[in-house]
Amino acid sequence: MIDTAHPVMITGATGFVAGWIVKLLLEAGVTVHAPIRNMADASKTKHLAELAAKTLGTIKFFEADLLKAGSYAQAMAGCQTVFHTASPFVTNVANPQKDLVDPAVIGTRNVLEEASRVESVKRVVLTSSCAAIYGDAADVQEAPGGILTEEIWNTTSSLQHNPYSYSKTVAEREAWAIAKRQSRWDLVVINPSLVFGPAINPHTTSESLRIVRQIGDGTLKMGAPRMGMGAVDVRDLATAHLAAAFTPSASGRYIINGVNSDLLEIAKTLLPKYGKAYPIPRRTMPKWLMWLAGPLAGDGITRKFVARNVGYAWKADNGRGRRELGQTYRPLQETMNDMFEQMIASGLVTSKK
Ligand code: NAP
Repeated sequence: MIDTAHPVMITGATGFVAGWIVKLLLEAGVTVHAPIRNMADASKTKHLAELAAKTLGTIKFFEADLLKAGSYAQAMAGCQTVFHTASPFVTNVANPQKDLVDPAVIGTRNVLEEASRVESVKRVVLTSSCAAIYGDAADVQEAPGGILTEEIWNTTSSLQHNPYSYSKTVAEREAWAIAKRQSRWDLVVINPSLVFGPAINPHTTSESLRIVRQIGDGTLKMGAPRMGMGAVDVRDLATAHLAAAFTPSASGRYIINGVNSDLLEIAKTLLPKYGKAYPIPRRTMPKWLMWLAGPLAGDGITRKFVARNVGYAWKADNGRGRRELGQTYRPLQETMNDMFEQMIASGLVTSKK
């Protein structure tokens, strides 16, 4: 049951994933405290304020930055539940320490250490990632039975190789360390696979939107690699966050993954509806070609990444979330069609055949 008696704080409210969590909270009549880094930029908040005006709930914005100590005190005051979703999700960065690891780790420290100071906080829900469970698809073959579970941690990523995954791994480890140093609040961690679906604000920086733009704009028209990955709908992921927050018995990590798939299979779900008008990939891009051309694309794709990610089956066990959070998943085709439709409508996919 959703607690509407106390305000709830959520970091990263302007982002792709958090947008839907905010929507569900507002629809339930919750007062949402949203610390964001630039209150003056109305393009980041307008859609959330409009949403609040249409629902029972209320949204209050606060100025805060993951890197600024003490930033979250005001927004957290009086909250029993804290969602920490904010963390950069970009894969091609100039300085992995500064651009990924610092905001992920210092931000986690800032938010969770504040939770330890604010007497009202009882539960923190952290948005981690399957990236904190595995680094490359090749790692999945090393997992017992070839299936990722919540018991497993990513041990292969580093600042040099898959720095985003590394940032999520060290940030989640930091979160568990901080949680163990106190006993008033408990930590529940959500580990989503790659998130797709329509965005509350389609103009976010999330890597999810960039990937689907590439599927639709002709970048992959010669073919997409069989790069193993999981996929989950952003709306299902929001439901998982709420269940993690308001199910008293929820504990530990939850893999939230709708389907075990790969990039080509994910792209191909768009073919029946959009295949005629848009250059959606239909064929496999051979691994050797990806190995040769990937590093030239300027996307930060390395030969090591190609070698360890293309051609490996990806499998994760989502049973814990189904059993303990009552999690259900919509079909991937519905997720992808809804996302693509919205990206066309908002001008994010324009290149036709
Ligand atoms: P997103 O749309 O780019 O959202 C990232 C959020 O973090 C934005 O609200 C951003 O604020 C905020 N942020 C970044 N740096 C900040 C800073 N220094 N101070 C304050 N706020 C900062 O990405 P997303 O896809 O929604 O990702 C949200 C979370 O889900 C992340 O923790 C990500 O690792 C996790 N996740 C995502 C996926 C996926 O496929 N999308 C999969 C697994 C896990 P601005 O709006 O100001 O930039």
